[in-house]
Amino acid sequence: MLFSFGSMGRILNRNRVKGNLANNHWQLFGIKFTQALRYKFDYYHYCSGHFTEKASIREINLEFCSIGNAISKFSVSGHTNSKSYMSTEILDRVFNDLLYDKRFSRVATISLYDGGETFLHSKRLELLRRVKLHKALWNISGKKFPRITLISNGILLRESQVKELLEINVINEIGFNLDSDSIKAFEDLKMNGGEGRFVERLKMFIKLKDIISPEVKIIGVGIAEKPHAINSGYVSPEIGSVINILDRIDYRLPGDTNIDNIGKVNETGCNLLLKQLTILPDGSVSVCCNDLNSKGIVGSVLGNSLYDIYFSGARLKYVRKLYEGKKKNWSFAGNCISY
Ligand code: SF4
Repeated sequence: MLFSFGSMGRILNRNRVKGNLANNHWQLFGIKFTQALRYKFDYYHYCSGHFTEKASIREINLEFCSIGNAISKFSVSGHTNSKSYMSTEILDRVFNDLLYDKRFSRVATISLYDGGETFLHSKRLELLRRVKLHKALWNISGKKFPRITLISNGILLRESQVKELLEINVINEIGFNLDSDSIKAFEDLKMNGGEGRFVERLKMFIKLKDIISPEVKIIGVGIAEKPHAINSGYVSPEIGSVINILDRIDYRLPGDTNIDNIGKVNETGCNLLLKQLTILPDGSVSVCCNDLNSKGIVGSVLGNSLYDIYFSGARLKYVRKLYEGKKKNWSFAGNCISY
Protein backbone atom coordinates (compact mmCIF):
# COMPACT_ATOMS: atom_id res chain seq x y z
CA MET A 1 0.00 0.00 0.00
CA LEU A 2 1.23 3.45 -0.80
CA PHE A 3 0.76 6.82 0.80
CA SER A 4 1.07 10.44 -0.17
CA PHE A 5 3.68 12.47 1.66
CA GLY A 6 1.16 14.38 3.69
CA SER A 7 -0.84 11.47 4.94
CA MET A 8 2.24 9.36 5.32
CA GLY A 9 3.75 11.92 7.64
CA ARG A 10 0.62 12.18 9.65
CA ILE A 11 -0.08 8.49 9.84
CA LEU A 12 3.48 7.62 10.65
CA ASN A 13 3.53 10.30 13.26
CA ARG A 14 1.26 8.09 15.31
CA ASN A 15 2.93 5.62 17.48
CA ARG A 16 1.64 2.68 15.52
CA VAL A 17 4.39 0.15 15.76
CA LYS A 18 2.42 -3.06 15.70
CA GLY A 19 3.84 -3.85 12.29
CA ASN A 20 7.35 -3.78 13.71
CA LEU A 21 6.85 -5.28 17.14
CA ALA A 22 4.32 -7.95 16.53
CA ASN A 23 6.42 -10.61 14.95
CA ASN A 24 4.82 -13.51 16.69
CA HIS A 25 1.29 -14.72 16.92
CA TRP A 26 0.79 -13.95 20.62
CA GLN A 27 2.17 -10.44 20.44
CA LEU A 28 -0.11 -9.71 17.53
CA PHE A 29 -3.08 -11.29 19.23
CA GLY A 30 -2.46 -9.23 22.37
CA ILE A 31 -2.18 -5.97 20.48
CA LYS A 32 -5.26 -6.65 18.40
CA PHE A 33 -7.26 -7.72 21.43
CA THR A 34 -6.31 -4.57 23.34
CA GLN A 35 -7.10 -2.36 20.39
CA ALA A 36 -10.51 -3.96 19.86
CA LEU A 37 -11.33 -3.60 23.55
CA ARG A 38 -10.33 0.03 23.57
CA TYR A 39 -12.34 0.73 20.45
CA LYS A 40 -15.42 -0.91 21.93
CA PHE A 41 -15.08 1.28 24.99
CA ASP A 42 -14.70 4.41 22.82
CA TYR A 43 -17.60 3.28 20.64
CA TYR A 44 -19.83 2.98 23.66
CA HIS A 45 -18.80 6.46 24.70
CA TYR A 46 -19.53 7.78 21.20
CA CYS A 47 -22.95 6.17 21.04
CA SER A 48 -23.89 7.49 24.44
CA GLY A 49 -23.04 10.97 23.17
CA HIS A 50 -26.72 11.84 23.38
CA PHE A 51 -26.11 12.05 27.12
CA THR A 52 -22.53 13.26 27.37
CA GLU A 53 -22.61 15.47 24.24
CA LYS A 54 -18.90 16.25 24.23
CA ALA A 55 -17.34 15.05 21.00
CA SER A 56 -14.57 12.48 21.29
CA ILE A 57 -12.56 14.37 18.67
CA ARG A 58 -9.01 15.33 19.74
CA GLU A 59 -7.59 16.25 16.37
CA ILE A 60 -8.82 18.03 13.25
CA ASN A 61 -6.97 17.50 9.97
CA LEU A 62 -7.38 20.36 7.53
CA GLU A 63 -6.15 19.71 4.03
CA PHE A 64 -5.24 23.03 2.41
CA CYS A 65 -4.86 21.54 -1.06
CA SER A 66 -5.35 18.14 -2.60
CA ILE A 67 -2.33 17.98 -4.87
CA GLY A 68 1.19 16.84 -4.17
CA ASN A 69 4.52 17.49 -5.86
CA ALA A 70 6.33 14.27 -5.12
CA ILE A 71 5.30 10.70 -5.52
CA SER A 72 7.44 8.07 -3.90
CA LYS A 73 7.27 4.38 -3.37
CA PHE A 74 5.37 5.30 -0.21
CA SER A 75 2.94 7.49 -2.10
CA VAL A 76 -0.68 6.78 -2.71
CA SER A 77 -1.48 4.91 -5.84
CA GLY A 78 -4.69 5.63 -7.66
CA HIS A 79 -5.17 9.04 -6.07
CA THR A 80 -7.95 10.31 -8.30
CA ASN A 81 -9.16 13.44 -6.55
CA SER A 82 -9.20 16.56 -8.70
CA LYS A 83 -7.20 19.65 -7.76
CA SER A 84 -8.88 21.47 -4.97
CA TYR A 85 -7.78 24.33 -2.71
CA MET A 86 -9.30 25.35 0.59
CA SER A 87 -10.97 28.78 0.66
CA THR A 88 -11.06 31.17 3.59
CA GLU A 89 -14.83 30.57 3.72
CA ILE A 90 -14.33 26.86 4.43
CA LEU A 91 -11.57 27.59 6.92
CA ASP A 92 -13.78 30.13 8.74
CA ARG A 93 -16.66 27.66 8.96
CA VAL A 94 -14.46 25.03 10.54
CA PHE A 95 -12.90 27.40 13.08
CA ASN A 96 -16.25 29.01 13.91
CA ASP A 97 -17.74 25.58 14.59
CA LEU A 98 -14.81 24.67 16.78
CA LEU A 99 -14.70 28.02 18.56
CA TYR A 100 -18.37 28.43 19.35
CA ASP A 101 -19.36 24.83 19.95
CA LYS A 102 -18.27 23.79 23.42
CA ARG A 103 -18.84 20.15 22.52
CA PHE A 104 -15.52 20.28 20.67
CA SER A 105 -13.59 21.35 23.74
CA ARG A 106 -11.42 18.22 23.59
CA VAL A 107 -9.81 19.24 20.31
CA ALA A 108 -6.14 19.75 21.14
CA THR A 109 -4.47 19.65 17.73
CA ILE A 110 -5.24 21.05 14.31
CA SER A 111 -3.04 19.51 11.62
CA LEU A 112 -2.75 21.45 8.39
CA TYR A 113 -2.19 18.55 6.04
CA ASP A 114 -3.62 15.36 4.68
CA GLY A 115 -2.85 13.99 1.23
CA GLY A 116 -1.65 17.18 -0.46
CA GLU A 117 1.37 19.42 -0.03
CA THR A 118 0.35 22.52 1.93
CA PHE A 119 3.03 24.69 0.30
CA LEU A 120 1.32 24.20 -3.08
CA HIS A 121 -1.64 26.34 -2.02
CA SER A 122 -0.94 29.78 -3.51
CA LYS A 123 -2.99 31.45 -0.75
CA ARG A 124 -1.54 29.46 2.14
CA LEU A 125 -0.28 32.62 3.86
CA GLU A 126 -3.72 34.20 3.64
CA LEU A 127 -5.19 31.05 5.22
CA LEU A 128 -2.57 31.06 7.96
CA ARG A 129 -3.37 34.70 8.74
CA ARG A 130 -7.02 33.66 9.13
CA VAL A 131 -5.92 30.92 11.49
CA LYS A 132 -4.09 33.57 13.48
CA LEU A 133 -7.21 35.73 13.57
CA HIS A 134 -9.20 32.78 14.89
CA LYS A 135 -6.52 32.20 17.47
CA ALA A 136 -6.94 35.79 18.69
CA LEU A 137 -10.74 35.31 18.91
CA TRP A 138 -10.21 32.02 20.65
CA ASN A 139 -7.94 33.64 23.22
CA ILE A 140 -10.55 36.33 23.93
CA SER A 141 -13.03 33.56 24.72
CA GLY A 142 -10.57 32.22 27.27
CA LYS A 143 -10.22 28.86 25.53
CA LYS A 144 -6.87 27.27 24.96
CA PHE A 145 -6.12 27.34 21.26
CA PRO A 146 -5.23 23.95 19.78
CA ARG A 147 -1.66 23.21 18.76
CA ILE A 148 -1.16 23.85 15.05
CA THR A 149 1.05 21.41 13.17
CA LEU A 150 2.14 21.10 9.58
CA ILE A 151 4.10 18.45 7.69
CA SER A 152 5.78 19.09 4.36
CA ASN A 153 8.11 17.28 2.02
CA GLY A 154 10.25 20.43 2.01
CA ILE A 155 10.67 20.56 -1.75
CA LEU A 156 9.29 24.08 -2.04
CA LEU A 157 11.18 25.75 0.80
CA ARG A 158 12.48 29.12 -0.34
CA GLU A 159 13.95 31.80 1.90
CA SER A 160 11.34 34.48 1.19
CA GLN A 161 8.46 32.03 1.69
CA VAL A 162 9.96 30.65 4.87
CA LYS A 163 10.32 34.17 6.32
CA GLU A 164 6.71 35.00 5.50
CA LEU A 165 5.51 31.77 7.01
CA LEU A 166 7.47 32.20 10.23
CA GLU A 167 6.51 35.86 10.61
CA ILE A 168 2.84 34.89 10.79
CA ASN A 169 3.85 32.90 13.86
CA VAL A 170 0.85 30.66 14.21
CA ILE A 171 2.29 27.18 13.61
CA ASN A 172 3.64 25.37 16.68
CA GLU A 173 5.31 22.43 15.02
CA ILE A 174 6.57 21.87 11.49
CA GLY A 175 7.62 18.43 10.34
CA PHE A 176 9.63 17.34 7.33
CA ASN A 177 9.90 13.91 5.82
CA LEU A 178 13.45 12.59 5.98
CA ASP A 179 13.27 9.47 3.92
CA SER A 180 16.66 8.17 3.08
CA ASP A 181 18.98 5.28 3.35
CA SER A 182 20.97 6.37 0.37
CA ILE A 183 21.24 9.43 -1.82
CA LYS A 184 19.59 7.48 -4.61
CA ALA A 185 16.66 6.50 -2.42
CA PHE A 186 16.31 10.06 -1.20
CA GLU A 187 16.40 11.44 -4.71
CA ASP A 188 13.65 9.03 -5.66
CA LEU A 189 11.58 10.73 -3.02
CA LYS A 190 12.71 14.32 -3.40
CA MET A 191 12.56 14.38 -7.16
CA ASN A 192 12.83 18.13 -7.50
CA GLY A 193 16.14 18.69 -5.88
CA GLY A 194 17.86 15.75 -4.34
CA GLU A 195 19.19 15.33 -0.88
CA GLY A 196 21.93 17.96 -0.82
CA ARG A 197 19.62 20.81 -1.73
CA PHE A 198 16.96 19.58 0.65
CA VAL A 199 19.44 19.56 3.53
CA GLU A 200 20.57 23.10 2.62
CA ARG A 201 16.95 24.28 2.62
CA LEU A 202 16.23 22.62 5.92
CA LYS A 203 19.26 24.25 7.53
CA MET A 204 18.14 27.60 6.14
CA PHE A 205 14.66 27.00 7.55
CA ILE A 206 16.00 26.20 11.01
CA LYS A 207 18.34 29.22 10.99
CA LEU A 208 15.48 31.57 10.12
CA LYS A 209 13.21 29.87 12.61
CA ASP A 210 15.75 30.48 15.39
CA ILE A 211 15.78 34.19 14.53
CA ILE A 212 12.08 34.78 13.79
CA SER A 213 10.11 32.22 15.84
CA PRO A 214 12.48 30.27 18.08
CA GLU A 215 9.58 28.60 19.91
CA VAL A 216 8.50 26.68 16.79
CA LYS A 217 9.43 22.99 16.99
CA ILE A 218 10.98 21.34 13.95
CA ILE A 219 10.64 17.61 13.65
CA GLY A 220 11.71 14.99 11.14
CA VAL A 221 9.75 11.95 10.08
CA GLY A 222 12.22 9.29 9.04
CA ILE A 223 11.20 6.23 7.09
CA ALA A 224 13.68 3.42 7.68
CA GLU A 225 13.27 0.57 5.27
CA LYS A 226 13.97 -2.95 6.43
CA PRO A 227 16.44 -4.30 7.38
CA HIS A 228 17.41 -1.00 9.00
CA ALA A 229 16.69 -0.37 12.65
CA ILE A 230 14.44 2.47 13.69
CA ASN A 231 17.24 4.86 14.46
CA SER A 232 19.63 7.19 12.72
CA GLY A 233 21.88 4.31 11.68
CA TYR A 234 20.25 4.10 8.28
CA VAL A 235 20.46 7.72 7.20
CA SER A 236 23.12 9.13 4.95
CA PRO A 237 25.75 11.55 6.36
CA GLU A 238 23.94 14.46 4.66
CA ILE A 239 20.69 13.74 6.48
CA GLY A 240 22.64 12.86 9.62
CA SER A 241 24.04 16.40 9.62
CA VAL A 242 20.57 17.88 10.22
CA ILE A 243 19.22 15.32 12.65
CA ASN A 244 21.05 16.86 15.59
CA ILE A 245 19.56 20.28 15.01
CA LEU A 246 15.97 19.05 14.87
CA ASP A 247 13.83 19.18 17.98
CA ARG A 248 12.74 15.60 17.44
CA ILE A 249 12.76 12.86 14.90
CA ASP A 250 10.17 10.12 14.63
CA TYR A 251 11.58 7.00 13.04
CA ARG A 252 9.20 4.59 11.43
CA LEU A 253 9.37 1.60 9.18
CA PRO A 254 7.23 1.48 6.09
CA GLY A 255 5.73 -1.56 7.81
CA ASP A 256 3.65 0.93 9.80
CA THR A 257 1.68 1.57 6.67
CA ASN A 258 2.63 -1.29 4.45
CA ILE A 259 -0.03 -3.93 4.77
CA ASP A 260 1.67 -6.68 2.81
CA ASN A 261 1.16 -8.78 5.89
CA ILE A 262 -2.60 -8.88 5.88
CA GLY A 263 -2.58 -10.77 9.18
CA LYS A 264 -1.68 -7.53 10.90
CA VAL A 265 -4.89 -5.80 9.88
CA ASN A 266 -7.23 -5.53 12.80
CA GLU A 267 -10.80 -6.00 11.66
CA THR A 268 -12.11 -4.42 14.83
CA GLY A 269 -11.32 -0.89 15.81
CA CYS A 270 -8.92 1.89 15.01
CA ASN A 271 -7.25 4.20 17.49
CA LEU A 272 -7.91 7.23 15.33
CA LEU A 273 -11.37 6.88 13.90
CA LEU A 274 -13.24 8.21 16.89
CA LYS A 275 -10.67 10.84 17.70
CA GLN A 276 -10.15 12.72 14.47
CA LEU A 277 -12.04 14.38 11.63
CA THR A 278 -10.49 15.13 8.26
CA ILE A 279 -11.72 18.17 6.36
CA LEU A 280 -10.83 18.28 2.68
CA PRO A 281 -10.22 21.48 0.70
CA ASP A 282 -13.79 21.65 -0.65
CA GLY A 283 -15.24 21.38 2.86
CA SER A 284 -16.22 17.74 2.66
CA VAL A 285 -15.49 15.72 5.77
CA SER A 286 -14.03 12.24 5.58
CA VAL A 287 -14.42 9.69 8.31
CA CYS A 288 -10.95 8.32 7.75
CA CYS A 289 -7.46 9.81 7.96
CA ASN A 290 -6.27 8.18 4.75
CA ASP A 291 -9.25 8.51 2.47
CA LEU A 292 -7.39 10.22 -0.34
CA ASN A 293 -9.98 9.43 -2.97
CA SER A 294 -12.84 10.75 -0.85
CA LYS A 295 -14.77 7.50 -0.64
CA GLY A 296 -15.61 7.94 3.05
CA ILE A 297 -17.23 11.37 2.89
CA VAL A 298 -19.81 11.80 5.64
CA GLY A 299 -20.86 15.42 5.09
CA SER A 300 -19.73 18.92 4.21
CA VAL A 301 -19.16 21.94 6.41
CA LEU A 302 -20.91 23.95 3.69
CA GLY A 303 -24.18 22.20 4.46
CA ASN A 304 -23.96 21.13 8.09
CA SER A 305 -22.30 22.03 11.33
CA LEU A 306 -19.21 20.03 12.19
CA TYR A 307 -20.95 18.54 15.18
CA ASP A 308 -23.91 17.35 13.08
CA ILE A 309 -21.43 15.66 10.75
CA TYR A 310 -19.55 14.14 13.68
CA PHE A 311 -22.75 12.62 14.97
CA SER A 312 -24.39 11.84 11.63
CA GLY A 313 -25.79 8.51 10.57
CA ALA A 314 -23.31 8.47 7.69
CA ARG A 315 -20.37 8.59 10.08
CA LEU A 316 -21.95 6.19 12.52
CA LYS A 317 -22.28 3.64 9.70
CA TYR A 318 -18.48 3.49 9.33
CA VAL A 319 -17.80 3.64 13.04
CA ARG A 320 -20.16 0.74 13.59
CA LYS A 321 -18.52 -1.39 10.91
CA LEU A 322 -15.28 -1.29 12.83
CA TYR A 323 -17.15 -2.13 16.02
CA GLU A 324 -18.60 -5.18 14.27
CA GLY A 325 -15.21 -6.20 12.94
CA LYS A 326 -16.07 -5.49 9.32
CA LYS A 327 -13.24 -3.24 8.24
CA LYS A 328 -12.73 -5.28 5.08
CA ASN A 329 -16.13 -4.05 3.87
CA TRP A 330 -14.76 -0.55 3.57
CA SER A 331 -14.03 0.47 0.02
CA PHE A 332 -11.11 2.53 1.36
CA ALA A 333 -8.50 1.88 4.03
CA GLY A 334 -9.92 -1.61 4.54
CA ASN A 335 -6.35 -2.86 4.74
CA CYS A 336 -5.01 -0.18 7.04
CA ILE A 337 -3.30 -1.78 10.02
CA SER A 338 -4.58 1.16 12.08
CA TYR A 339 -2.80 1.08 15.37
S1 SF4 B 1 -8.63 2.96 9.59
FE1 SF4 B 1 -8.77 4.99 8.66
S2 SF4 B 1 -8.84 6.43 10.44
FE2 SF4 B 1 -8.02 4.47 11.15
S3 SF4 B 1 -5.77 4.72 10.97
FE3 SF4 B 1 -6.52 3.62 9.15
S4 SF4 B 1 -6.72 5.22 7.63
FE4 SF4 B 1 -6.71 6.25 9.66
